[in-house]
Amino acid sequence: MLQLTNVGHVYDNGTRALDGVTLTIPRGMFGLLGPNGAGKSTLMRTVATLQAPTEGQIRFGDIDVVADPQKLRRTLGYLPQDFGVYPRVSAHTMLDHMAALKGIATAGERRETVEKLLQQVNLWNVRNKALAGFSGGMRQRFGIAQALIGNPRLIIVDEPTAGLDPEERNRFLNLLAEIGETVVVILSTHIVEDVADLCPQMAVLAAGRIQLQGAPHDLIRATDGRIWKKTIGRDELDACKTRHHVIATRLYGGRTVVHVLCDADPGDGFVAQPGDLEDVYFATLAQPRRAA
Ligand code: ADP
Repeated sequence: MLQLTNVGHVYDNGTRALDGVTLTIPRGMFGLLGPNGAGKSTLMRTVATLQAPTEGQIRFGDIDVVADPQKLRRTLGYLPQDFGVYPRVSAHTMLDHMAALKGIATAGERRETVEKLLQQVNLWNVRNKALAGFSGGMRQRFGIAQALIGNPRLIIVDEPTAGLDPEERNRFLNLLAEIGETVVVILSTHIVEDVADLCPQMAVLAAGRIQLQGAPHDLIRATDGRIWKKTIGRDELDACKTRHHVIATRLYGGRTVVHVLCDADPGDGFVAQPGDLEDVYFATLAQPRRAA
């Protein structure tokens, strides 16, 4: 289990990227959802020990992560947002090299590790191809393979599905789900479906603070009877926003579908709509903005 207590981070230029982040992350897939600039990468880099928090504590099992980052690194797999290493060497050679860097010293043990990983992430058939020629999805699966070297108990993946086509994304998420059965996996993303499809537990981070946390199912249930929908013309949107608490607008067949949050029937032709995780997310993001 990963436990963060009051974690804060202020960059040298004064930007407060994290503010009082307290989270308990159990084994399994955990979704950290938030818009760009929310502080997700800062939090992921902090947990991955690439930067120390300016305040707060982080514990993983019996490891004090801030005091003893080396100890965490021995059990950490990290796929950063920008992995960026795609040289003209084969997946097999590169993974072997990375396994050596991670301390798997004997050639036999390395071969066994590398071959198992290539099969696990479904890159066995292309193991001798240069990484430079890999598609986005293949690169991300390679990124997971390198993160899994040494059987980590904590895996962090930062915005892994951005830019993947639907089939690649599905394949990648299935792979993560498999891994998440035995270890702690934190998936940082701004894509609501990634979390909805995959994570039994989640949190929403915005403006450096945890705005909401829990099981997606429970969070959705909490919106029961409070989400209302109406299809309007685009020119009616501004007026609608002044009258109602609009949490999301989607274009559908050239018309605008508006979702509003309201404890009672808002009238005006709105109909009740069962909430989904996107409603939960946009309602959460809309709240601090309205309060501001
Ligand atoms: P996210 O991953 O959710 O997009 P980030 O953690 O990258 O969010 O950024 C959170 C905030 O911290 C943003 O306002 C960003 O501009 C700022 N930030 C990120 N990295 C640095 C840095 N190295 N120096 C100063 N500000 C930074």
